[in-house]
Formats: sequence, structure tokens, C-alpha cells
Amino acid sequence: MKKSSIFILLLAMLQPAFAASKQAAASSKDKAKKCIVLETSDLYNYDWATAAPNMGFNTISTGTDVLQPTIFLRERAGKLFLRDCKARGIEVEHQLHAIDDLLPRTLFTQDSTMFRMDKDGRRRADYNLCYTSPAAQAIIAKRVVRYAKQTPSTDHRYYFWLDEGADGCHCPECSKYTRSELNLMITNVIAKALRAKYDPEAMVAHLAYYNTYEAPRQVKPAEGVFLEFSSYLRSWAQPLKCDTATARFGYTNGKILQYLKDNLEVFPASTAEVIEYWIDAAYQSNYRYPYRSIIWMPKIIKQDVKTYNKLGIHRFNCFAAGMDSTYFQQHPVVKEQLKQFAKMLK
Ligand SMILES: [Zn+2]
Repeated sequence: MKKSSIFILLLAMLQPAFAASKQAAASSKDKAKKCIVLETSDLYNYDWATAAPNMGFNTISTGTDVLQPTIFLRERAGKLFLRDCKARGIEVEHQLHAIDDLLPRTLFTQDSTMFRMDKDGRRRADYNLCYTSPAAQAIIAKRVVRYAKQTPSTDHRYYFWLDEGADGCHCPECSKYTRSELNLMITNVIAKALRAKYDPEAMVAHLAYYNTYEAPRQVKPAEGVFLEFSSYLRSWAQPLKCDTATARFGYTNGKILQYLKDNLEVFPASTAEVIEYWIDAAYQSNYRYPYRSIIWMPKIIKQDVKTYNKLGIHRFNCFAAGMDSTYFQQHPVVKEQLKQFAKMLK
């Protein structure tokens, strides 16, 4: 082979790497986190590692339970997905409802005091846990390291959520705290364990959602804990800043926004994230298949982003579960809407 041919060949081999590092540099300069939260199943039959950067997202998160991303990442499809995301400068995270994995329900017969007490004084293994139980905390601290290894995050951000939407523990010790404080207590356990045993730069989400909207006061966030604020109970018919917009369970958008402001007195805005539902076809379809084309609300999104930005928040996650190749075949217009959406996140 001629020297010049070898040079051309080398150049051709290096080009994708240059392009990839350029893209990575571009996304790291991008101040905003633009994360699309998908079901693991969406990653099997749609090339999200290519589509996400083309649409303008810089992060992909799975949003299910621990098992699904664990299986996916062990398989060839998952390994290729991680490789392609890395080459394109796309961060990969996993936002998971995890309490059943962190504290297996089968342990109830061994030690029921690790599980929540209901209002009638009975221990139950249905939701959550007894947050103040040292035994439960020790098990969680141990198991979470394993799960973080199984579902690695490329940007040091970890999301092991509890059942924030369900009832908690009413034992005498847990009753001294609010639900947000109890939640934060466990988030702190997780952050300390991950930082000590797996990832010294680990950042762990405290999810403010449903029963955990109230800002925690008696319990302070441990090092590495950041606020993830879910707007789930709001109305999307009006912007978040609209005080009088009636939301669910008697809330108004103003009340939800006030909760966010209260939480920002405890957690720094610079690391805080919101998790939104603006493009969540699953939610908009009442989680019933087939999912509809998204209710496109660019004016609301723009105003909401401004509201969040004014509070110092530039890190956005948005659910988009169920968006796979079949979905895009049925609703081709959504691809263009997602491009416009990603541009709006600042
Ligand atoms: Zn308790």
C-alpha cells in the first residue's frame, strides 16, 4: 500500500473520533441538561443513540425499575447503545423506582421492623419502608452499590427513588419527621454509600413529588444530594407560574411552584433538576396503548422554561416513555416537535 493511501486510511479511521469529540465538546458547553426519559424497551427497537443528538438532547435516561436496564446493559444491544452514546457525547442515566430492590419485600418475614407501620400500627411490606430503621438503612447502603454498578451512570448522577406517591411509615420514630425528611434520610444513606464505595463524585437525587413536595427542614442534604423536582400534580393547561391554574388534588400551579421555591432554600439551584411531562405521550394517553400523538404546547413550555430559568434551574428531564419505532411510524410529526422542544430547553 502506498504511503498516501495509508495516510488517507488513517484519516478516515480517525474522522469519526474527531467528529465525536467535537460533538461531546459542543454538548458539554451547552449549559442546559436536556434529558429524555424513556422506557428501556424503547431503546431496543429505536436508535435513540443516533436520534437523541440529532433532536438536540444531550442525555438519555431509562425510567423504569432496576431490572430492565440491568438486563438491557448486559445484552449486546445495551453495550452498543452505551458505545454509540459515548461516541456522540450523550450522557446515560437511569431514573428508577427502586425501593423494592433496595429492600426486598421477602425480608419481611426475617425482620418486619424494617418495613413501614400503617396507621393501625401494623407492619406492612407494600410500599416504602421504616425509614428510621438502622437495619433497613444498612441493607439499602449495601445493595445500592450493586445496583449502581449494574446500571452505571455516565455523568455521576443517580436516581434511586422510593414510593413517594404512596403511604409511608407511621411508627413513633418516623412520625417525628415529614415525608420529605424521611425520604431525604434515605437519599443521604444512598449518597454516602455510593460516594464511599463506588463513585466518589456520585450525585444522588432527592425526589420532590406527591407526598414529598414540602421542603425538608429537620434533615439536611448530605454531600452530593441534589433536588429533583417533579411537577406531576400541576396543570399543563396553564403555565406553571399561573397562580390560579387548578391542578390535581386541590393544588394550584402556584402552590406547586411555591414548593419548588421552598425546596430551593434547602438545595442549591445550580445542581437542581426538574422532571417534567410536557412531551409525555404515555401520561397524556392515561398510560393506555396505543399512545397518542403528543399534546403539543410550545407556548406553555417556553413560559415554564423561563420560570425555571429565573429560579436558576437549567437541568431538565422529560418523560417520553413509549417512543419507539412503531410510535414514530404512527406519529411522524412528533420527531419534529421533539427537535423544537429540545431547542426550547435553556
Ligand atoms: Zn418507621
